[in-house]
Amino acid sequence: MDILEGLNEKQIEAVTTTEGYVRVIAGAGSGKTRALASRFAYLVNDLGIMPGHILCVTFTNKSAREMAMRIHRLTGDNDTGYINTFHGFCVSVLQEDSFAVSYPKNFLVIDNSDIDEMLAIIYEEMGLTLRDMPFNKARDMIEMKKCVWEPEYYKDMIAMPLQVLYERYHTATTVQDIIFYGYLYQEKKCFALDYNDLIKFTLYIFEENEEIRLKWQKLLEYIMLDEFQDIDPLQYKLMEALCGYHNNLFIVGDPDQTIYTWRGANIRFLLDFDKKFPNVKTILMNDNYRSSPEILAAANSLIAKNKNRFNKNLIAHRPSGPKVTCFMGKTAGEEADRVAKEIIELHKKGVPYKDITLLYRAHYVTRNLEEKLLKKKIPYTIYSGTQFFGRMEIKDALCYLRMIVSQDDMAFRRIINKPKRNIGQRRMEFLTNYASENGCTLFEALRKNVEEPTLKRTGAADFIELIDTFAKDSEGKPVSEVLSAILDESGYEKMLRTEGSQERLDNLAELKQSVFEYETTCGEETNIVHYLEHAALFSSMDTGEGQDKVKLMTVHTAKGLEFPYVFICGMNEGIFPSRKTRTVNGMEEERRLAFVAMTRAEKALYITEAGGANLDGSPRYPSRFILDIDRDKLEFDSPVDEQLMKETMVYVGRSTAFLQEDKDETTMEAGTRVRHPVFGPGTIVEVDGSAHAYLIKFDSMPTMRQISFHARLFKL
Ligand code: ATP
Ligand code: MG
Repeated sequence: MDILEGLNEKQIEAVTTTEGYVRVIAGAGSGKTRALASRFAYLVNDLGIMPGHILCVTFTNKSAREMAMRIHRLTGDNDTGYINTFHGFCVSVLQEDSFAVSYPKNFLVIDNSDIDEMLAIIYEEMGLTLRDMPFNKARDMIEMKKCVWEPEYYKDMIAMPLQVLYERYHTATTVQDIIFYGYLYQEKKCFALDYNDLIKFTLYIFEENEEIRLKWQKLLEYIMLDEFQDIDPLQYKLMEALCGYHNNLFIVGDPDQTIYTWRGANIRFLLDFDKKFPNVKTILMNDNYRSSPEILAAANSLIAKNKNRFNKNLIAHRPSGPKVTCFMGKTAGEEADRVAKEIIELHKKGVPYKDITLLYRAHYVTRNLEEKLLKKKIPYTIYSGTQFFGRMEIKDALCYLRMIVSQDDMAFRRIINKPKRNIGQRRMEFLTNYASENGCTLFEALRKNVEEPTLKRTGAADFIELIDTFAKDSEGKPVSEVLSAILDESGYEKMLRTEGSQERLDNLAELKQSVFEYETTCGEETNIVHYLEHAALFSSMDTGEGQDKVKLMTVHTAKGLEFPYVFICGMNEGIFPSRKTRTVNGMEEERRLAFVAMTRAEKALYITEAGGANLDGSPRYPSRFILDIDRDKLEFDSPVDEQLMKETMVYVGRSTAFLQEDKDETTMEAGTRVRHPVFGPGTIVEVDGSAHAYLIKFDSMPTMRQISFHARLFKL
């Protein structure tokens, strides 16, 4: 098979320029990823390179799997080399060479929830509480300390025997040090590596061990990176370390699709690539093979509103289709209704469900959509997340309601220690034994034994009073009121706030909204029991059999992917752009995100929004991104409410005035006073452009520290 067949001239150039440094800068859907996959196949089939000598880096595991499949089809070879994310590749390196850092091959890769478990052990051992430092702050602190790039950390973590770490942990005097050394100790004890460690350990090995670095450098004859616009400084360093021997580096990216600057990605790496490496060949591509001209025109007119951008327009090659459709509902329920109706229409016309994808900015948006899909028996599947009613905080909240009306053991078990009431495993065992011996519920067991010594110094008495009071007073009150009150008075929401779980709080707010809607549509008859029956229906309903399902995912997850029919739901101020957007650059990133969302669509694109109120109670306006799209490129399914549009414009104008100018990376000069979220106030002593970091003397520390540009520093 001729690999070059079907590729355009620019793509062929990208595929066949195999030696040296090559950069492709091109728009969405212009065939970058396809060129990258073809290049892999070309290297193997036409140049006879061994697949195991090629490293191909993708942004997500999902895209790595897709890439491997594409390449397998092209080469027919089962050995597809290193097609992976940066983290995945680091796991491969460490599996082979972890001995260099005295780690066994079967080390453990840990995620946030594992980190929280370790933190829980440390807090328990050292008598710390969330008031000393909430978990999310502790995780941030650990990450900051690690990303500060201090050699000591690696000496601590790698060179120090476990015993010494243990001593540091137990002799630490500040909360911060206790947590940090406690965490390092826990990590080392079970040979665990968190995401930051994966890259840093690999870098450490490459820096400290010339022999190992050379081995990998020699092995990887060709290195290719997709989605280069979102590379962060550590990944960049790793790439530099790897390509130094053969000097064959191929990168592709689109500046308009940078959506991870909040996590440290830096577009300068793509734009300055030619200044960093010798004889860079740059290939620009402007043809779009994904979307209909109508979709592309709308997306182009949106992204043109970004000020900080290099102008480029994509040229459509796909057949013409319908205009981008815009649904403007009065309520979120109506919006979801329209979406479901349209899906049914499409399905009747022969469009399989799996060709339809619903995209959204925030997870909580799925609640309304899911309810309608379930009701209409449209099968669906959620990528990147759980069904709304399966989410932890939703289940917890419903169990609080169940405690009010039925006090069943399952509900009791779920929430008795959430928030912490000092009723852990041991006390639960006691209650369980008592309950089975006396044939009563766990809640009764608690009530009968509340005066016993084992239950002294626990929150048992308060909990009983809480439930009793609610059971007595809830009769006749609206369920939404009861739910809000119990989440507040039980301390459950406060717990989420101290943990910093904004997404969970958003989900709870959406649940309250759902209860409220249920009440207003069902009339006066509703009570907690009715509501729980209604909710149970959703949580147990099957989302449909087989593979032909509508897909639901966040825009971040959809990066790099494409779908025939796309709905972007919840296109409202406060949702998309997110209400957390505070800066001018942040707003431009939101617009790029909207651009990414729009350019996923192949045949038809729908943008939907609804009036009503936001989670914080503010009135909900259509998104500025709808206004950004030229009016003649949109088809509204009902007459546009011009008054609403005018009000939205006023609202957008007002809120834009509140956006802060971003601290420009390069304008913070030596001498500037700044505040660091963990280390406090300090003075920038030096600006190190090549390391993308400042050297800062903090008031609280004797020595200077190197802090990455992307750290959250505030000018004082
Ligand atoms: P994104 O910026 O969203 O990651 P991309 O530039 O990586 O997009 P691809 O996913 O590679 O774009 O390609 C988009 C679509 O266009 C794919 O369906 C691909 O098969 C098709 N395509 C790519 N190149 C060509 C071509 N030369 N002729 C026809 N179709 C093409
Ligand atoms: Mg791509």
